[in-house]
Amino acid sequence: MIDNNASVLLIYTGGTIGMIENSETGSLESFNFKQLKDNVPELKRFKFTIDTLEFNPPIDSSNMGPSEWQKLVGIIQEHYDKYDGFVILHGTDTMAYSASALSFMLENLDKPVILTGSQLPIGKMRTDGKENLITALEIAVDKDPYGKAIVPEVCIFFQDYLLRGNRTTKVNAENFEAFHSYNYPPLAEAGVHIKYESHLIHYPATRKPARFHYLLDSNVMILKLFPGISKDVVEAVFNIPSLKGVILETYGSGNAPDLDWFLHIIKDAIDRGIVVVDVTQCLSGTVEIVRYQTGRILSEIGVISGYDITTEAAVTKLMYLFGHGMSIKEVKDHMLCSLTGEMTTLK
Ligand code: ASP
Repeated sequence: MIDNNASVLLIYTGGTIGMIENSETGSLESFNFKQLKDNVPELKRFKFTIDTLEFNPPIDSSNMGPSEWQKLVGIIQEHYDKYDGFVILHGTDTMAYSASALSFMLENLDKPVILTGSQLPIGKMRTDGKENLITALEIAVDKDPYGKAIVPEVCIFFQDYLLRGNRTTKVNAENFEAFHSYNYPPLAEAGVHIKYESHLIHYPATRKPARFHYLLDSNVMILKLFPGISKDVVEAVFNIPSLKGVILETYGSGNAPDLDWFLHIIKDAIDRGIVVVDVTQCLSGTVEIVRYQTGRILSEIGVISGYDITTEAAVTKLMYLFGHGMSIKEVKDHMLCSLTGEMTTLK
């Protein structure tokens, strides 16, 4: 049920969605958000309040990183009590990373934080941006009969689907269906009605005040295995001086070469206190580290399973855990359990 007395803060960070075509030159230019309602007149039909705030200058999401995530958390914390929900307009390229990072940085959320964007600028005739924006705004103010937010989570809404943010991956650079959540079903589908799957949405068990986290440590790395990866490359990665954690993108259900030099380099790194997390290169499915001998050996030398976590969620989770000064054991323990619905551990 849309709450007409509600208010949403719409934060524009940059990306394709915020562009319009200059009718004289035909080139794409950044949109002035002060004129949002002139460019998207459909918004005038909403009875709830939409306030806007923009990054100045707007940024391509290739330039997103910890300081921009901290800035977003700061904006949300400052305005948390005043608004019923938040919509973040963001470039699609790194949206899955930002959604994952925010899901860890915003603890005990009881309001929606919906990221969306578009493949075509909002000022283009065939834009997917209007639809994405309008539905994201509706979701941000949708309440249950008791007046509680229906989706108190960090999500991505894109092309009809509401996805848990930390389960998403950008899968298409061309198609309007740019995001997918392979290991967790959509939280809602928007057709004639927005159909929420309440049993899939995370509701905090007890009402705790929201907590806003800012600390992140970027001394982490993603290493994607490929047949023929050389000793020099693996050695160089695991010997980066300030390195604290590595997301090892393995094959299939979590397998890697069982070559002596390879295992030796990784074991040596783990013995020096580097946390190594096994995440599969497959888009769907989970790491079952002991299913094959080539996975079991990784587990024996101390590599931990990332189960069905995405690379985007795994790397931002490591940044968050190390950022909070956790010990190596604490980081490993937290990587092995779900903090905010980012993974399904095996029973
Ligand atoms: N390069 C753009 C960005 O991610 C693409 C987009 O907005 O979809 O910021």
